[in-house]
Amino acid sequence: MLNNVKHVVLVLSGKGGVGKSTISTQLALALKEVGYQVGLLDIDLCGPSVPYLLGIEGSEVYQCEGGWVPVYTDSTKRLAVMSIGFLLKNRNDAVIWRGPKKTAMIRQFLNDVAWEELDYLIIDTPPGTSDEHITVMECMREVKCDGAVIVTTSQKVALEDVRKEITFCKKTNINIIGLVENMSGFVCPHCDDCTNIFSSEGGASLASVAGIPLLGTLPIDPKVGELAGKCTSVFSALPESRTAKIFHEIIDRI
Ligand code: ADP
Repeated sequence: MLNNVKHVVLVLSGKGGVGKSTISTQLALALKEVGYQVGLLDIDLCGPSVPYLLGIEGSEVYQCEGGWVPVYTDSTKRLAVMSIGFLLKNRNDAVIWRGPKKTAMIRQFLNDVAWEELDYLIIDTPPGTSDEHITVMECMREVKCDGAVIVTTSQKVALEDVRKEITFCKKTNINIIGLVENMSGFVCPHCDDCTNIFSSEGGASLASVAGIPLLGTLPIDPKVGELAGKCTSVFSALPESRTAKIFHEIIDRI
């Protein structure tokens, strides 16, 4: 039930491994940190990594009269999480379902979670533009969805796939909030200098050609990678970092 939700934001990517779940998770943690009531819904059925990234794997979910009861990350109950990962017995179990079963599960996740009042619901979607996405987009027509944040890296091969994602959003009338280019350089853990590894400016030029905002370019920061499993936002763990600064800019724009 999304009636209690003020803002719904989808996080999309053309490819896996570009940092979509990391950004979904950090967005949710950042919004919580600045005082919002936040939900994080992980519908990446084939790679549900949100429970791992937040260190809440193995949490039990159960159903009440109002639907699935989400998992809260701490006693403040300001971040509620629902993921297919909670329904798998162990992390290495695979979801081997055909399309109709997957879409039914996604519909159930979108409609049957008993969220309390939320300021923001962040939805971490599977990579690509598959059946699952069509279901998400159909469900989004029935609720007030603010739009999509699209995550890419700056390599040509990732940018090619992001073009498809942009076309998909335009065809399905989903507003694009903007593009985030992740892993666009490497922050040296010793001197904090940032070096471009891949070609730079790829995200910026794609955003400008597609006529969508570039929300920010995030470097590869080993300290950000180390936050996986800790349920800690970059705001509290790395307040002075380039990544924290960019997340401040991103949440100001969603
Ligand atoms: P996706 O959801 O797109 O498949 P993930 O968010 O799971 O990608 O990220 C893949 C891996 O890259 C994870 O181990 C994550 O910790 C790491 N990662 C993502 N973004 C960054 C970053 N900016 N700096 C360092 N590590 C990152």
